[in-house]
Amino acid sequence: MERQVVPNRDNSLNATFSSSHMKTVSQLINQETRQWDKHTLNCLFDRDTVNDIFQIILPSTGKYILRWKPTPKGQFSVKSAYKCIMLDIHGSDNANFPWKYLWKLDLPQKIKHFLWKCMHDCVSVRSKLSRYVSSIPSECPLCNRESETLNHLFVQCDTTKRLWFDLDSNIAGNMSNMNLQEWIANWFAPNSNHGESHRKFVQFVRFAIWEIWNLRCNVVFNNAQVHVNNLITRVNKDISVWIDNSVKILANRSTLSNNKVVTPWSLPDFEYLRGAQSIHGIANDEEQVAALAALSAIRWAKAAAVQKLHLEEDCLNVVNVINGSLGSVDWRNNNVISDCKSLLESFTSWKCIFVHRESNEIANSLAKRARNYRVDEIWNSEFPLWLKSLIRDELNVNLS
Ligand SMILES: [Zn+2]
Repeated sequence: MERQVVPNRDNSLNATFSSSHMKTVSQLINQETRQWDKHTLNCLFDRDTVNDIFQIILPSTGKYILRWKPTPKGQFSVKSAYKCIMLDIHGSDNANFPWKYLWKLDLPQKIKHFLWKCMHDCVSVRSKLSRYVSSIPSECPLCNRESETLNHLFVQCDTTKRLWFDLDSNIAGNMSNMNLQEWIANWFAPNSNHGESHRKFVQFVRFAIWEIWNLRCNVVFNNAQVHVNNLITRVNKDISVWIDNSVKILANRSTLSNNKVVTPWSLPDFEYLRGAQSIHGIANDEEQVAALAALSAIRWAKAAAVQKLHLEEDCLNVVNVINGSLGSVDWRNNNVISDCKSLLESFTSWKCIFVHRESNEIANSLAKRARNYRVDEIWNSEFPLWLKSLIRDELNVNLS
């Protein structure tokens, strides 16, 4: 048994467990009932750990599966492997920098990418290029005095300082002796000013950084001259074009979402078993709720000797994984899914399709009932009045 086999627990295993004769997870499972052996667990772990272990649902059939710890779904990905290697090499993968906020910024992709390159110090400034190509001078093309590092180009260069001042006289104060990377990171700091005027100011600076880089490239490749007024015009134009486009995109989106029609659910046009169940249970998340609901529906159908099963689910991940796309659910739900799949094999035929929650008001009401009353309710043929009237309203079907 290795560390972190229990979700949410990063602590190493306790002394009682370490000194016991236990070597494998299977020793903690009652092999007859295929359930956790509560007595053994209580002897070995504290109460919180036992509760966490009980939240891991064991499959009634199946075998052990290898999982990749660094991803929540337990599936290997190159991205997560890269992150692990960077952590090993640098002790950090810039992990404290809020990358997800960078990628969600209201900015053109090229500017976000450029800021990302700045944070990783991989912009092709001359101090870098001249190390590999001797014909490239290392001097800053804007001032021709000092070596062009990223920090010199955007912070220390006299020409850039003048550009910043003319763009906005508050910029020097906002930069306050930080280097470029610290300055960028500071925009995302939790204690940073999040007011509307500050947000606009930072947005302006991000466009300006991009245009200063364009200007620098123009000087290098086209022998362009530095004209402050041109720079200011370009930055303001970029921003107004971006805002105009964003407004158009938003307007399109809202038209699309207003046009969204949820297809109402209808009774399947084949012979079906009449019954309804509303099952109450405890689960870690919505995905597990859906997986457990699927399992109990499949068990119900099997007990009723159904041969052809038509299963509808409102959780797309669960539908995908039942239909065969491995890794679409959290690894903790894999055991429930593997039970679903092994039971499904015993049906003559089956299909599992996605139905939007809002489409099936009847199923939605049964789920709400289970949540509110916390009881299991099963109706095999005689439905209560409230359910009959719901079926009549939703499906236009009159049940006797
Ligand atoms: Zn310079």
